[in-house]
Amino acid sequence: MRDQKRHKEYEHQWYLRKKAGLPTKTTIKLTDEEIKKHIFITKKKFREKRRIERTNKIRLKFGERCNICNDTYYLHIHKKDGTKHKTWTDMTNEEFDKFINLNSNDYVQLCYNCHKAVHWCMYYLSMCWEEIKNKAIPTILLKNKYHM
Ligand SMILES: [Zn+2]
Ligand SMILES: [Zn+2]
Repeated sequence: MRDQKRHKEYEHQWYLRKKAGLPTKTTIKLTDEEIKKHIFITKKKFREKRRIERTNKIRLKFGERCNICNDTYYLHIHKKDGTKHKTWTDMTNEEFDKFINLNSNDYVQLCYNCHKAVHWCMYYLSMCWEEIKNKAIPTILLKNKYHM
């Protein structure tokens, strides 16, 4: 939002400088508040741009769908061994580049519900990814299909 009053004042000063034969090109002095706001918006735009770029790279590498149910809802990259790892949105550029270029066999893309289910199986049933994929997943899918 532009401060009309200050802009008017700037125009007035510009006119006075012009009249006085002084250089007219000066910048409007911003308040601390405006500078903070400006930095905040710039950072937000930057993060949004980076998020889109990273999403595109992730989709290229891991596909557009959940590895279990083919859903597209709220996709996550899950580490197959179940250990925690940084979300790619929180990674530094260096970390993300490393992540996107490494062997993707350790990771799998899952939708929100499947990701929750996989962690549930890992935590409560001590199942590993291979077990879940081979045993549990066909059952889950069957249940969903027949609403059992
Ligand atoms: Zn899914
Ligand atoms: Zn996970």
